[in-house]
Amino acid sequence: MLAMRFDKDAPPPMFEPEAEALAAEELPALQTRRLRAMIGRLLAAGGLQAGRLREAGVTSGADVGLDDLARLPTTSKQDLWDGYPFGLLAVPRDQVVAVHGSSGTGGRPTLVAYTKGDIALWSRMCARALAAAGGGPGTIVHNAYGYGLFTGGLGIHQGAIELGATVVPVSGGMTARQVTLIADLRPEILTCTPSYAIRLGEALAEAGLTKGSGLALKAGVFGAEPWTQEMRVRINELLGITALDIYGLSEVIGPGVASECIVAADGLHVNEDHFLVETLDPLTGQPVPEGTPGELTFSTVTKEALPLLRYRSGDIAALRSDPCPCGRTLVRMSKVMGRIDDMLVIRGVNRRMARARAPMTSSVPRSKTASARPSASGWRSPSCRQARCRVPRSARRCGCGAGLPASRRSPAWPADGTRVIMPFLADATVCP
Ligand SMILES: [Zn+2]
Repeated sequence: MLAMRFDKDAPPPMFEPEAEALAAEELPALQTRRLRAMIGRLLAAGGLQAGRLREAGVTSGADVGLDDLARLPTTSKQDLWDGYPFGLLAVPRDQVVAVHGSSGTGGRPTLVAYTKGDIALWSRMCARALAAAGGGPGTIVHNAYGYGLFTGGLGIHQGAIELGATVVPVSGGMTARQVTLIADLRPEILTCTPSYAIRLGEALAEAGLTKGSGLALKAGVFGAEPWTQEMRVRINELLGITALDIYGLSEVIGPGVASECIVAADGLHVNEDHFLVETLDPLTGQPVPEGTPGELTFSTVTKEALPLLRYRSGDIAALRSDPCPCGRTLVRMSKVMGRIDDMLVIRGVNRRMARARAPMTSSVPRSKTASARPSASGWRSPSCRQARCRVPRSARRCGCGAGLPASRRSPAWPADGTRVIMPFLADATVCP
């Protein structure tokens, strides 16, 4: 039996190395093929997205290439709500084998639909994440994500089975039972929310289970809520593991859109062979340079039931494409730094934006807004505090600093792990 594959000198095997380590020059061709096929499916399905594509002058998948992505129409959560529950389906309703979703406002969830093919894809994406955490056939995965409409529990569950691991579907809560199961089954990977990992770690410590005395855990795959570098350190200390971040949202597929590798534990590899990723300026909708935080926007080019073109997630993160020691060639995203709702702080007042594309009011001049930008030495908060501000007068959003924005100088990725603190804009202020 293969147990965990932890050897820093020999990276654990990838689940789909032919895709995860695809030569960088081959990826665009694959993405282009899939994007064109997706657009063909959307046009054939009719409805909202087909209408928007035709308005944009797109009448065939052959009309577009990757370079055209930025001019294609976007989709949003509002579109899902408007089409609730099945208005955006691109397949006949009887091909839908499952629905999942997230809690929404006013008690109405955001629902997404899956075909058998979508479930298979999702399983593979979660298998990739577990393999990136060092898991393999036979690895015991203690899955304490909630099972249900929420995608966390079943997503990881299906991924573990796809990988050939041994999943313990304990779901959330009933901590005393979880402690017993961990003591008895000696899992090597823990999957749950990061806040629950801390709670569970404290309960295990109270029960006398620590690294070297009863715990076999080696890695954790944590997501579904924002978490900080301090939480990562705390989890690692409590459980004696390497805590890894996983990212996903039900509108795209669920967990498994991106995940960290145990080799570097420094940024989440986006499965961009299936989910084309862009980072957009939340105000203008235009792509931002690599390394600059922007709104994560995904095109689900291989999904069947609910393919979404340029879905604006509302999550803020930055992308980087430098090589990773694990050998994956997939682009990495930073931890999610915040939501677009939090992004704009104007004259000390947080003006919440319901949608990124909502027009700014005339009383809020864009030149007076501050945004998050990386510095040459790492991320800094978007606080435009006089002494630290490096954004030049020519920059659209800030006028007090000296020197070029780091984003124009190929900013260094933060060197100290994942250091983004949520909520990162709480104290942002405007340049004087
Ligand atoms: Zn990696």
